[in-house]
Amino acid sequence: MSTNELVYTPVDDIPKIRDELRAGFASGKLKSIEYRKYQLKQLAYLIKDNLERFQDAMNKDMSRPVLESRFLDVLPTLNETLVQLNNVDEWAKPTKPPFSLNFTPMRPVIRKEPKGTVLIISPFNYPVFLTLGPLAGAIAAGNTTLLKPSESTPATSALMTELVHKYLDNELVRVANGGVAETTKILELQWDHILYTGSGRVAKIVSAAAAKHLTPVTLELGGKSPVIIDPGCDLKTAAKRILWGKVANAGQTCVAPDYVLVPKDFQETFVNALKEVYEEFYPDAEKRAGVPGAYTRLVTPQATERVAGMLENTKGTVVFGGDINRSDKFIAPTVVKDVKHDDSLMSDEIFGPVLPIVPVENIDEAIKFINERDHPLALYVFSQDDKVKTKVFNNTQSGAAVANEVVIHPGADGLPFGGIGPSGQGMHTGKYSFDLFTHLRSSLDSPSWIDYIIKFRFPPYNASKTDATMRLLKSLPARPKGPPAVAGAAGASKWWGKWFILALAVAVAGGLTSSRLKTGIARTA
Ligand code: NAD
Repeated sequence: MSTNELVYTPVDDIPKIRDELRAGFASGKLKSIEYRKYQLKQLAYLIKDNLERFQDAMNKDMSRPVLESRFLDVLPTLNETLVQLNNVDEWAKPTKPPFSLNFTPMRPVIRKEPKGTVLIISPFNYPVFLTLGPLAGAIAAGNTTLLKPSESTPATSALMTELVHKYLDNELVRVANGGVAETTKILELQWDHILYTGSGRVAKIVSAAAAKHLTPVTLELGGKSPVIIDPGCDLKTAAKRILWGKVANAGQTCVAPDYVLVPKDFQETFVNALKEVYEEFYPDAEKRAGVPGAYTRLVTPQATERVAGMLENTKGTVVFGGDINRSDKFIAPTVVKDVKHDDSLMSDEIFGPVLPIVPVENIDEAIKFINERDHPLALYVFSQDDKVKTKVFNNTQSGAAVANEVVIHPGADGLPFGGIGPSGQGMHTGKYSFDLFTHLRSSLDSPSWIDYIIKFRFPPYNASKTDATMRLLKSLPARPKGPPAVAGAAGASKWWGKWFILALAVAVAGGLTSSRLKTGIARTA
């Protein structure tokens, strides 16, 4: 049906498209919550009606298996659209701040208003979820939107262009396609918010362009997301989930486990568990490269070359995988052990199906290793010991802190998705997307009688009016005598408390049981 040919938007047309979207905003259509809901319903049907076409397009772009396209991309987009649709009535309502003696009489209200005409620039790796997902939030919040999908997935971007222009009101939503030249032109224009998802390198270009107009920017970036393995973890589950996180979409996932830190005397056990899982995942390993629809390819020859180069230069030991077929953009799922801190695989975000295992002395060294690097987008720990999990989470920083799971947390309803520092700024999905595209407009409506109370504010100033300002001086709590005692970051005291309560409970239960037993024995005796 679709030609799936990606046509770049003529650079000269781009300012006109922006102006038309501004006119669409000025039309006031999206002031109506009902109209926003109508557009969200159209978006939901855009996705549902074309599920197979999306799957085919992503298969054409990346040989991506249907399961991955559905589970990780298209269905989460539909879910996100429905979350916006089902909540927009509530979220768009004005809210009142807490009671304040001074200001409540002035009827303070927070109005939830759209920012205006916004720009969403998205990456190639989850092209639908990261383009149409945020669009749902932008529509729910009442903005008109320009989408700039990735040129690296031409079939999917062409399909989204066709469908957005067919299903949605084009006064309100448009798509512009292209590479650096087109995006540079787009970024020369003024927008009311930019949501950029992609690499840190391009994020700096986007931020610099936005700064020229003082445009607010949300940056959803990547980086090296580490995994810490505690030898006391559920080994089989850990190996299975981590390897899946690395092979899904051929590792081209912003929250993919990038590398694993494992205590060195546990490395062999962990690697053997990964090997076992690898055999389960791909029993026909030799044929795997030729099996269509079984395994995603790297997105472009350049991406293949980059990951292949990192792998070919490693000084670690390849445990399994390692096959590279450049003409097919194929890199086998690969595990490399004994990887040193300065290895080629540790130089940059891998964004491919290669998992380096970095041996460390213990969990403390793993934490130190992470803290010496950029704050990651996700940090994973596999452990059955709450003490270990708490220690890791309390002594590190990252976009998300996840125990015993990988990759799927961005889809968790109600959780914000975003990075910190070099892994991003701001957050989205669900209510957080709505808020990202919403201006909280403070509003008061002050009655005339208020001036009987604060008439001192008006000139001409005099001593009695100046003295009256002291009525605003609030009483303070007692002056502190010194800094309070601070518990360690590991939260050790809490743990003692928990163990103490548990021990107490066991002792009480034990006491009751033994006294009942004694009573029973006494009765039968
Ligand atoms: P990319 O930065 O190369 O491209 C993203 C977008 O930027 C594309 O639309 C592209 O056309 C545009 N672009 C590229 N060069 C540009 C330039 N010079 N000027 C202006 N625009 C330009 O990213 P990618 O390769 O598509 O995606 C991979 C990166 O995205 C990884 O780092 C990954 O971690 C990150 N990512 C982050 C998230 C997240 O939610 N945090 C999600 C997915 C991917």
